Amino acid sequence: MTATPTIGVLALQGDTAEHVRMLGDLGVPAEPVLGPEDLDRIHGLILPGGESTTMSKLAVRYDLLDPLRKHIGQGMPAYGTCAGMILLADRILDGAQGQETVGGLDMTVRRNAFGRQSESFEAGIDIEGVGGAPFEAVFIRAPWVESVGERVRVLGQTPYGEQAGRIVAVRQGGLLATSFHPELTGDPRIHRLFVDMVKGQA
Ligand code: GLN
Repeated sequence: MTATPTIGVLALQGDTAEHVRMLGDLGVPAEPVLGPEDLDRIHGLILPGGESTTMSKLAVRYDLLDPLRKHIGQGMPAYGTCAGMILLADRILDGAQGQETVGGLDMTVRRNAFGRQSESFEAGIDIEGVGGAPFEAVFIRAPWVESVGERVRVLGQTPYGEQAGRIVAVRQGGLLATSFHPELTGDPRIHRLFVDMVKGQA
């Protein structure tokens, strides 16, 4: 893989700008992805946080759903945060009626799983492959991973509280997903891991 990859950030809805800024801070060229032709110019794709139901409807409207499935199915590395994690899931629970996903990650994700009592919270989480202090993870109406297939590696779980042990970070080959939003915290370590994955160095 190329030494300086270009990373696309899905720009249908959600916090695209924060991901673009984070990649810029790492010195990695980043491009918004709005149409199928944009996928041919990138080496890896980030699917941002936002609202997965809206994003999947817009993906259909902009003729992006099948091209996304095709590129990811053919091995394009991708990283999904929160709503983006839902989009990368092969199976979802508590989705809107008829909600489609891009898929690729052999897992079942429960939407809005952390529920109303804590719509938004932060927790320090140890993420496999990310050195240093626990990652300060921000969860906003976040999903969790209910179950994973055997090819999926669990990288991080919630550490304490009523919901201790919930799976919130996973990887399967070139596909990475977190329930939380590193793009909102200014900690570049997970983005760096993804860039290294795109380079074939992680
Ligand atoms: N609950 C949202 C969804 O279903 C995800 C929330 C987020 O991305 N912060 O898409």
